[in-house]
Amino acid sequence: MKQKSAGQSTQAIHGTSITDAHGAPHLPVYNTTTFAFENTAALLDVADGRRKGALYTRYGLNPTIFALEETMTSIEGAGSALAFCSGMAAETALFAQYGREGIVCVGDAYGGTMELLTTQLSQLGITTTFLLGDEVDRLDEVLRGGPKLVFFETPTNPALGIYDVAAIAETAHRHGALVAVDNTFASPVNQRPLALGADLVSYSATKYLGGHSDVTAGFVLGADELIEPLKRGARVSGRVSHRSRQRCCRGACAH
Ligand SMILES: *Cc1c(COP(=O)(O)O)cnc(C)c1O
Repeated sequence: MKQKSAGQSTQAIHGTSITDAHGAPHLPVYNTTTFAFENTAALLDVADGRRKGALYTRYGLNPTIFALEETMTSIEGAGSALAFCSGMAAETALFAQYGREGIVCVGDAYGGTMELLTTQLSQLGITTTFLLGDEVDRLDEVLRGGPKLVFFETPTNPALGIYDVAAIAETAHRHGALVAVDNTFASPVNQRPLALGADLVSYSATKYLGGHSDVTAGFVLGADELIEPLKRGARVSGRVSHRSRQRCCRGACAH
């Protein structure tokens, strides 16, 4: 008999292989900054990436974060997920890693994202070309100038502009550029940009993913080979904060 694949509500509850050592059906929040090891060799195995395990919470190496990331990977149908302490932290990591050769931002975007792109990142030499909503047909021409990341929201915050993920991805890929979609407003319930051709998807989980105005968190998701390079920078840029991690996991995992 063909087994029916789990729907998103089932994935939200059972989308992780991380289980409690004592069999608790709800994974406890690992309210700890660091973890002890039997010996130095065991610590180095995790620190050097030979074995996946809990080590230090800022690195994201904490079972609560593993469970959150696995659950989100499952709901999104992605290869991997990286959780952050806010949507802005997620976008900063994404642009710092993949925007170095230039970014094209299509349409309007969240005010914080606009400020990040126009002011903070441009001061660091990461430049963005902005295309207004009715200028999407100029994307091909702009990409000829060399930018390697196309970023947009759909629907956008706050103007609710809608963009065609598949069409933009087709144009971007012809130029060897990656496509990142901020899917905060749609949420994976209504739209899965990776399935439409995007390479990366980012979220402010503070909004509809959290859903109850009691969580500040963010994500970047995509294929393993695109998420892996983000992890190194994320270790030292402070991607998770102890307090927000606890809050985000209560909100996103336990209901
Ligand atoms: C709120 C929001 C962000 C920023 O998220 P924070 O969690 O507040 O840092 C980014 N993008 C969109 C579309 C948003 O609505």
